[in-house]
Amino acid sequence: MKPAAALLLPLACLAGVLSHCSKPKDAGPEQLQVDNTKTELSSEFSGANAFAHVERIVGYGPRPPASEGFEKMLSDLEKSLADFGWKTTRQKFRAATPDGPVDFTNLLARHGSAKPEPDSLPFIIGGHIDTKKFSFPFVGANDGGSSTGVLLELARVLSTDPASAAKVELVFFDGEEAFRPGITATDGLYGSKYFAQKMATRPTWPAAGIVIDIVGDPDYELHFNPETPEGFASVVERLGAKQNFTKPFKASVFPVIDDHVPLQNAGVPCLHLIGQFGSMPYWHKEGDTLDKVKPEMLEKVGRLVLDFLAEAPQPAAASAEE
Ligand SMILES: [Zn+2]
Repeated sequence: MKPAAALLLPLACLAGVLSHCSKPKDAGPEQLQVDNTKTELSSEFSGANAFAHVERIVGYGPRPPASEGFEKMLSDLEKSLADFGWKTTRQKFRAATPDGPVDFTNLLARHGSAKPEPDSLPFIIGGHIDTKKFSFPFVGANDGGSSTGVLLELARVLSTDPASAAKVELVFFDGEEAFRPGITATDGLYGSKYFAQKMATRPTWPAAGIVIDIVGDPDYELHFNPETPEGFASVVERLGAKQNFTKPFKASVFPVIDDHVPLQNAGVPCLHLIGQFGSMPYWHKEGDTLDKVKPEMLEKVGRLVLDFLAEAPQPAAASAEE
């Protein structure tokens, strides 16, 4: 991901991102209605469980697309999700990158109680699983690891209530990271762009998307996307206050370009949660190691996501489309 303004994106590009936050009114498949999940699930989310997943995943070493570490992680995710009653599909594709063509794999998961494809489910919850490729060993404990651990624990908690699990599609995005220093229009977000493109061919679209990234370090503010629908913002602000984060939980000052943007551009209103990575001295450095991730922070984020699923407002009413 990157802070749009901090990296001096041309303003036109930024405006372009924002102007496509909502689905064109008269085009595309039917958007599903919000179908909330059970309210009591959030207290079941265990930060210790999520942390154990992060620890195991970090143990596979660097996990850039198509690497040995990535393949080991992918097998682990498939096995872990199967243990929780989720069926997985590898969404494979090849894309042109500044380093030439690369084979990417998104992992899509639906609970056994959920409708199969091609229908969408009411909610998408996603995060990226790839780590940025560097010449030094970069294990991305917080950047790539933390969100993956939270998603796996979410899979376990949701599976305790199959009716709730049936409303959620978990998407583990590959290729979020750019091959060059920053995300551009043609480098980075490979997996989420491909997923959004394929999703657009489904007969129905999700009511809402939740994307999390770099959520493991309690020493930094947690931000949500300022372009999220007003109805989402007011709900998540209230629910965030309940979690008593060590540092402020608030809207990011600038929009951040991350895996939620292709979903938003396709017409899915999204909530994006991300730690204040620009202030983390270890961001995209060798120091992004397991000690930066804390179980209590993973727990608060996981519980916030579950509370949001239980309370998310109807996006049609929430998104103030002009
Ligand atoms: Zn990154």
